[in-house]
Amino acid sequence: MKLVMLGAPGAGKGTQAKMIAAKYGIPHISTGDIFRANIKNGTELGEKAKQYMDQGLLVPDELTLALIMNRFAQDDCANGYVLDGFPRTIAQAEALTASLKEQGDALDYAIDVDVPDENIVERMGGRRACVNCGGTYHVLFNPPQKSGICDLCGGELSIRKDDLPETVKKRLTVYHEQTQPLIDYYNAEGILKTVDGTVDVNEVFAAITEILG
Ligand code: ADP
Ligand code: ADP
Ligand code: ZN
Repeated sequence: MKLVMLGAPGAGKGTQAKMIAAKYGIPHISTGDIFRANIKNGTELGEKAKQYMDQGLLVPDELTLALIMNRFAQDDCANGYVLDGFPRTIAQAEALTASLKEQGDALDYAIDVDVPDENIVERMGGRRACVNCGGTYHVLFNPPQKSGICDLCGGELSIRKDDLPETVKKRLTVYHEQTQPLIDYYNAEGILKTVDGTVDVNEVFAAITEILG
C-alpha cells in the first residue's frame, strides 16, 4: 500500500501516519523528520534545509527530491509506505508520479486531513515533540503520561522552533500557495479521499481505516 497524507501543517498528518504505519506494517516516511534528523546530526543537507525551515519556507524541490528518492531505495519500502509531508509542491507530486510510473506502479490513495486554519494555530501552540524519537504530543489534546517526557522513549519534549505563532502563519500561507493545489491534482488522478481532521485522534483514524480497509 502506497499512501500520501495531505493537510495543513498541524492537521494531524504525522499523528495519523504513525498509526497507519503501525496497523498496516508499512514505514512512515516524514520528510520533516528526516530533515530534522539531519539538522540534529549536523549534516550538510541539514544545514541547508534549516535555513528554509526556520523561516517557515519550503526546502527547495531539488534537495527534497534527492532526499526522498534515496529513502525510497531502502529495503523497507518494498511493500509500500505512508508519506507524511511529501509531496508538498506540484513539481514534487509530478516527480513522484513519474518515478512510480517507471516501475509500473502508482499510489493507492491520497488522504486529505481537513482542518480549517482557525484550529491550526491552537494545535501548533500546544504541540510538543520528543527531541529523541520525534514522538508528537499536544498539551491538551494528546498529553504524555508524564508532563514533558516522551511516553515512547523517556526523551525530553520540546517546542519546535517553527511552531512559534509567527512562523506558523507563514507556513499556513506557504501551504495555501504551494501545497493545497495537490488536493486538485490527486482528485484528478482519482485517488483523493478527504477525512474530517477536527474530530479526535481516534475518530480520524477510524475514518481512515474505513477507507483503507
Ligand atoms: P508539519 O508536519 O507541521 O507540516 P513538517 O515536519 O512536515 O511539518 O515540515 C517541517 C518543515 O520541513 C516544513 O515547513 C519545510 O520547511 C520542510 N519540509 C518538510 N517536507 C518538505 C517537502 N516535501 N518539501 C519542502 N520542504 C519540506
Ligand atoms: P502534522 O503532522 O499535520 O503537522 P501533527 O500530527 O504533528 O500534525 O499534529 C499537530 C498537533 O495537533 C500535535 O500536537 C498533535 O498531538 C495534535 N493533534 C493531532 N491530531 C489531533 C486531533 N485529531 N485533535 C486534536 N489534536 C490533534
Ligand atoms: Zn521519544
